[in-house]
Amino acid sequence: MSRTQTDRCPGVLAVHQAADGGLARVRLPGGVVRADQFDVLRTAAADLGDGRLELTSRANVQIRGLAPDAPIELSQRLFEAGLLPSMPHERVRNILASPLSGLDPDSRYDVLPVAAAVDRELCARPGLAELPGRFLFALDDGRGDLAGVRADVFVRAVDEREGLLSLGARGVRVGWSDVAEVMVATAEAFLQEREGQEWRIAELDRGEERILDRLGLQATEELPTAVSTVAAGKHGAALVVTVPLGSLSQEQSAVLAHLGQDLRVTPWRSVVVPAEAGAGLDGVGFVTDPESAWNGVTACAGQPGCAKALADVRADARRVTPRLPRHERPMHWSGCERRCGKPAGEFVDVLAVGNGYVIDGERMGTW
Ligand code: SF4
Repeated sequence: MSRTQTDRCPGVLAVHQAADGGLARVRLPGGVVRADQFDVLRTAAADLGDGRLELTSRANVQIRGLAPDAPIELSQRLFEAGLLPSMPHERVRNILASPLSGLDPDSRYDVLPVAAAVDRELCARPGLAELPGRFLFALDDGRGDLAGVRADVFVRAVDEREGLLSLGARGVRVGWSDVAEVMVATAEAFLQEREGQEWRIAELDRGEERILDRLGLQATEELPTAVSTVAAGKHGAALVVTVPLGSLSQEQSAVLAHLGQDLRVTPWRSVVVPAEAGAGLDGVGFVTDPESAWNGVTACAGQPGCAKALADVRADARRVTPRLPRHERPMHWSGCERRCGKPAGEFVDVLAVGNGYVIDGERMGTW
């Protein structure tokens, strides 16, 4: 049995069988998707799934409720739309990039072209199809918005000449012309150093040190501590639009597709659109107010999508959130103790326990 056969991360062909049918995850390197591609996703969700598009914590898109024979048709549609450039690599194209990259003054360097280059390099190397589906690349444009995503290979822009590459505690500067090549070489070194079923560099004994040694690099620079968040609302030439619970209805997806603009999916259940497109988004349940209680609220699948769920957490979150003030911390609703999709770092933990909820360890009864 090869390593990838035991890798349960869903893709388009290797769908996850959930209680509500097949679940397919479509990778969007850098979170970028053209309007015509987004419309292909929208119609595929309507024709083959339950109609909704789910945004994930890795800025990907999921379609649920697929019939057993749907993945073949889905993969054909996505291949024709350019969303599956390499079938063997479809589950390993996990590349995050700062979603406001190049669009506002805090962006030190536009990392999106680098993310596209990493994707091309990845897909060009057959051996990298063996990467675990959890292995994550991230490119931060310097603001620190991706500092908390726990990437395996992380590059944070220093300036227009260099990025700081890190696999853990410290970093090494790399010129932008070499960054894509070095990131992919790091993934190859991980596969060479991997001994068993380690999914991430952090799981490999002295992984950071061994991989850097293999690449002939020395990471000696302290990592910047500054982090930032990307709130809903206008940022320079961009508008960040929060999608409540990251679940797009057909109506919402159609509105986004009909903007006719490239979209950037963020890891925070929001979408970046050009600022001038804002007027076209009214009235379908999007959130552009940075003070809205919906910002930072996430939920696992819950009932009926997950057989383990003790509650329909999404329905409960939809009912309760409009009555709540905005929380400082993100809030995550979970149908059981696995807490799938929970945010990195601290969060308000809303846990279903069968006959009510426990919030941050305190029982709240029913809502
Ligand atoms: S947290 Fe539990 S209920 Fe929610 S999706 Fe994961 S396994 Fe299912």
